[in-house]
Amino acid sequence: MLTATRGFRHDSIPVAKEVMTGLAASRGTFTVTTTEDVSSITAGMLSSFDVIFFALTTGELEFSAVQKTAIVEFVSQGKGFLGVHSATDTLYEWPDYGRLVGAYFKEHPWTQSATVIVEDPANPSTSGLGDRFSITEEFYTFRDNPRPRVHVLLRLDAQSVGASGDYPLAWTQSFGSGRSYYNALGHFEETWRDARFQRQLVGAIQWAAGR
Ligand SMILES: [Zn+2]
Repeated sequence: MLTATRGFRHDSIPVAKEVMTGLAASRGTFTVTTTEDVSSITAGMLSSFDVIFFALTTGELEFSAVQKTAIVEFVSQGKGFLGVHSATDTLYEWPDYGRLVGAYFKEHPWTQSATVIVEDPANPSTSGLGDRFSITEEFYTFRDNPRPRVHVLLRLDAQSVGASGDYPLAWTQSFGSGRSYYNALGHFEETWRDARFQRQLVGAIQWAAGR
């Protein structure tokens, strides 16, 4: 779980780390290693993990070409990637990362309570959520709509923010032999403490790990 930032730094990062560590302890089905140290991400280090999780990262993180290859190969050769919230506001200048996370952040026009529609309740990350839920969040839009490239799990109910259009909020995709999951929620500490968000993260880890 990498929480390094080279741009905006979310106040919710400490809570995100605390929540993930707590979920690992309480569920007992996975462990979490957190780091802020970009230089620690190497092929050798990754070889002992099943999933790499970019949590609230921002900006042009200083990965070397060798590290970038290690991350791409880690996922494409069969492991998992998770990105949450500003993981799409990260590494705009690395096109392979854009393909891995699925889209790049454009803007956040709505910070309010809104309705999220569950498009696919069959993924482990969305099972049990029902067909929709309301949450107070900073809702993202993206430079282009990822829908043609990914499998959408959640989308914003545009009417609930007085808008129209298609706004995917969480998705999965295959990446070579591996799996990639992204969820745009996670701006606020309250979201990380929300059992409905925690359920999604635990399910996403399970799915991304191929379990
Ligand atoms: Zn945010």
